[in-house]
Amino acid sequence: MAEKVRQEETEVAQYEERKIVILPRHCKGCEICVLLCPASVLEMKDFKAHVARIEDCTECMLCEIRCPDFAIEVYQSGKKGKAK
Ligand code: SF4
Ligand code: SF4
Repeated sequence: MAEKVRQEETEVAQYEERKIVILPRHCKGCEICVLLCPASVLEMKDFKAHVARIEDCTECMLCEIRCPDFAIEVYQSGKKGKAK
C-alpha cells in the first residue's frame, strides 16, 4: 500500500535506460528547471515540473543540480543507480 501511494506522488519518465523522476510534493513550481533545460525536455503542468520530452534529454544533469528543492532525479543511461 505504501508503495502505491508513493508511486501516485511520483512522476517517472523512462526512455531506454534513461529515467527522470519528479517528486511533485517537493516541487514548488519555480520553473528553474524548465528555463535551464537546454533541450526543452521539461514543462510546467498544474504548477509543477513535468517531463514532456524525455527522448530529447542530453543527461546534462542541470535540472537535478539546480533544483533548489531536490525534486528532480536523473538516472543516466548506462549507469547503475543514481547519477552523482
Ligand atoms: S526547479 Fe525544482 S522546484 Fe523548481 S519547478 Fe523545477 S522541479 Fe520544481
Ligand atoms: S538532464 Fe539536462 S537535458 Fe535532461 S531534463 Fe535535465 S536539464 Fe534537461
